[in-house]
Amino acid sequence: MKDRGYYEGFGGAYLPEILIATFDELVETFQAAKNDPGFWREYVDIMSTYSCRPTPLTFAENLTRKFGGARIYIKREDLNHTGAHKANNVMGQGLLVKRMGKTRVIAETGAGQHGVAAATMAARFGFKCTIYMGEVDVQRQRPNVFWMERLGAEVITVREGTRILKDAINESFRDWVTNMDTTHYVLGTACGPHPFPEMVSFFQSIIGKEAREQILEIEGRLPSRIYACVGGGSNALGIFQSFLDDPVELVGVEAAGKGLETGQHASRLSSKDASVGVAQGYKTYFLQDHDGQMKETHSVAAGLDYVGVSPILANFSEKGRIRFESATDKDVVDALSLTIRKEGLIPALESAHAFAQAFKEASAMSKEDIVLINQSGRGDKDIFTVADAFADPKWQEFIKNKAEEYHA
Ligand SMILES: *Cc1c(COP(=O)(O)O)cnc(C)c1O
Repeated sequence: MKDRGYYEGFGGAYLPEILIATFDELVETFQAAKNDPGFWREYVDIMSTYSCRPTPLTFAENLTRKFGGARIYIKREDLNHTGAHKANNVMGQGLLVKRMGKTRVIAETGAGQHGVAAATMAARFGFKCTIYMGEVDVQRQRPNVFWMERLGAEVITVREGTRILKDAINESFRDWVTNMDTTHYVLGTACGPHPFPEMVSFFQSIIGKEAREQILEIEGRLPSRIYACVGGGSNALGIFQSFLDDPVELVGVEAAGKGLETGQHASRLSSKDASVGVAQGYKTYFLQDHDGQMKETHSVAAGLDYVGVSPILANFSEKGRIRFESATDKDVVDALSLTIRKEGLIPALESAHAFAQAFKEASAMSKEDIVLINQSGRGDKDIFTVADAFADPKWQEFIKNKAEEYHA
């Protein structure tokens, strides 16, 4: 186990002894499934009848005209069930849970999107489901908690530590150690101990497989650049993987939050503020202080607000195969507004980071160039944050009236 799952020094599986057999079983099940062509067919079949795959590639004609440079295409992961690429991961892991004969799933969630996706999968497959969520997040993300409970999941509020995502991850591991015979931990991104980075990337690779075929069919050639936002790294690896051997520039965009110089951001690979360490069972760049204490991170996009990053991306960053940039909250809200008005698309605030970086670069490219932006999710979920950012008075009035109804 110790020698597996390393990406030139990053990754690994730093596990308590008691979980080793469970991880061995997971690695075996995953490897067998990966080498079974029937399994990928089963996966594609369920994704096409339950989650709108293949998702289309949309030519952004108006944005292309506005910037006057590269032709801009958008990969529409927002059209997945539950509104983001997260469906690809949870449904794939659900199929593995069936293969292992387990009956219960647990998951951690920060913003709540992964919790909703995992609870949806559990409802579909008939698994029991427990979601761990920090108390601070439970308070901020009530709509997602509401849907998880309607979907039949038990949502457990974590009151340990700083009461956010990393504390929810710790609680999930604690549960797993106690219930590993019946339970699988559905980790939400391409992080954590081996085999999670590889396994989550494998399921998300459906994005790039489709996008590569689609762009070749539409344009007859490959894009010059591909942009994707980077939280844990799963949607970025999902689209990038199919282009690693091509002369295509890959650009991962992290959250610069209030600005890199303020320290209030979540840029692990595009700032100098992160360092290599081991936490949560794997080795990567973490935003931590000299004593290895995790720093507080900030982003307008809750899904990018994470202290670690995929070990696979950390390795590609060191090798120079993927370029990492960051976009500030302000850049992101501007890019979102523009995309809504020009194309009638509403990207998630996370995805809007990729749009913001592409918009900075598109004008300087030639009309022969093609760029691909991964729209990892849809923005309806962000209505509270976006309405605040625009200080929309009619929205504020609506919220006030709603609150008064409950007081009455
Ligand atoms: C969760 C989420 C992300 C961040 O996760 P990655 O693993 O980095 O892809 C990005 N976009 C959306 C819409 C999300 O819901």
